[in-house]
Amino acid sequence: MTTIRATCGTCGDVELTTADVQVMISEDSGEGNYSFRCPMCEGVVVKGSPRHTIDLLVSAGVRYSTWGTPAETPLDPAAPAFSYDDLLEFHGMLADDDAVAGALDALLN
Ligand SMILES: [Zn+2]
Repeated sequence: MTTIRATCGTCGDVELTTADVQVMISEDSGEGNYSFRCPMCEGVVVKGSPRHTIDLLVSAGVRYSTWGTPAETPLDPAAPAFSYDDLLEFHGMLADDDAVAGALDALLN
């Protein structure tokens, strides 16, 4: 198994295996970050990385997942601001399972 040297902000350089590291890759840029639990202090370390580092980690067998920016409906700049009344109405809607199901259905279709 490949040994990966990384740096914990508290402990300094640590040695890890490919199973100790996870990679998250941006579908938009190919850049991403990697994370691991430090074997010395057990703190979680997350570091942003350029694409070539991400590629090296993945080619060494580190498991990875991807994420992308969701396609969102463009905001209407002329729409009224979200108010406390809107918040209360939303709160009431969340208590109504049929209303939540209808809203989710409208979002997904
Ligand atoms: Zn540490």
